[in-house]
Amino acid sequence: MKENKKMSLTIKILLGLILGIVFGIIANAAFDKSVNESIIKWMLGPIGAIFLRGIKMLVVPLVLCSLIAGTASVGDVKKLGRVGIRTLVYYTLTTAVAITLAIILASVIKPGTGGTGLLSNVGEFKAAEAPFIMDVFVNMIPTNPIKSLVEGEMLQIITFSILFGIAATMIGKPVEPVINIVKQINEVLLKIIGIVMAFAPAGVFALISKVIMIQGADVLVKLLKYGVTIILVLALQAIVVYGLALKFIGRVNPIKFFKKFWPVMVVAFSTSSSNATIPVNLETCEEKLGVPNSIASFTIPLGATINMDGTAIMQGVATVFIAQVYGLPLTINQLMMVVITATLASIGTAGVPGVGLITLSMVLQQVGLPVEGISLVLGIDRILDMIRTAVNVTGDAAATVIMSNLENELDLDVYNDFKEVELEKVS
Ligand code: ASP
Repeated sequence: MKENKKMSLTIKILLGLILGIVFGIIANAAFDKSVNESIIKWMLGPIGAIFLRGIKMLVVPLVLCSLIAGTASVGDVKKLGRVGIRTLVYYTLTTAVAITLAIILASVIKPGTGGTGLLSNVGEFKAAEAPFIMDVFVNMIPTNPIKSLVEGEMLQIITFSILFGIAATMIGKPVEPVINIVKQINEVLLKIIGIVMAFAPAGVFALISKVIMIQGADVLVKLLKYGVTIILVLALQAIVVYGLALKFIGRVNPIKFFKKFWPVMVVAFSTSSSNATIPVNLETCEEKLGVPNSIASFTIPLGATINMDGTAIMQGVATVFIAQVYGLPLTINQLMMVVITATLASIGTAGVPGVGLITLSMVLQQVGLPVEGISLVLGIDRILDMIRTAVNVTGDAAATVIMSNLENELDLDVYNDFKEVELEKVS
């Protein structure tokens, strides 16, 4: 009964998405600007914001509690180190694969050639300061963990929580009550996710229709080849690369993964934020995919912060695209540089909307392309951000399943259980 109810929620989320797209397209074509602005101001804006704030509200407390509880329950510091290193290597490798695919496909499809007159779109674009890589490591250590919590500094929160969990493990019995309280708070937070997600269909509807009403379909047409190239590589990464990794490294059925995971992709798509998707991603990994909290609580928030394969794909295609529009062909050396910097840039990209475009300036600068080229792709980026965020979070969850099975800790009964789907078919 409960399962059936849950399934109908995922269908409702999908309906919210489809109706939102249809409504956005109709409103954009049929109403004039002021009517659309009023609809956004009085209805879609507030509904979308309430949903977004509802899930964002849970990110910091959930990462803190879930990670402390998770680390403490590993009970073995060595194992934590092993999972940590494997995860980091896996995250880096999949990102490098993603960007290599992006460069190859963009070089073959050539979205930026053909005299489209796109250069007239070039405007001012302020370059972001590329973070110095050593600073990224230094800044992982908080000087004041309370400040990190208040400001939502993900890497600092992750470092502090892991240390807390490790220290608690080392002390053992005397501090068990503290860990139990953290675990109980974690339970309550997971319950709140359930409450907030009941609001997801309306939230998803509002967020997607607002984007389409503002952007219209014409940007899509103008930058069709660029957008299609990115979407193609994103699909390849999500279906083929993750599918093969799940099958051959994780030794699980990839189709089952996608069947259970797609509602999380819808949330990532409509919020354009890996961070905001952490709570639902954690819940799905633990409850539907059979991953233990001790692994998911580490790999999901870490992945949302540093593993951005979708973003790396956009940066690879965008770099080749901009080089083509400007007629500045890239050498093999420059392309290798793109792979390295885009991998680093995606690590440095925060899991919030639109940041990937800002860190793109770091990649362009590195290979000596004009940073103003970013304004060529600005118009369509809002929509592509949604799709690449869905891929970003899928990469995190696939890694989580794989790491769990490598540790022989994946609950295969839960992973392979299809009761929900069968129930839906019957009803
Ligand atoms: N919106 C993306 C994310 O949160 C980051 C980006 O590419 O802008 O995953």
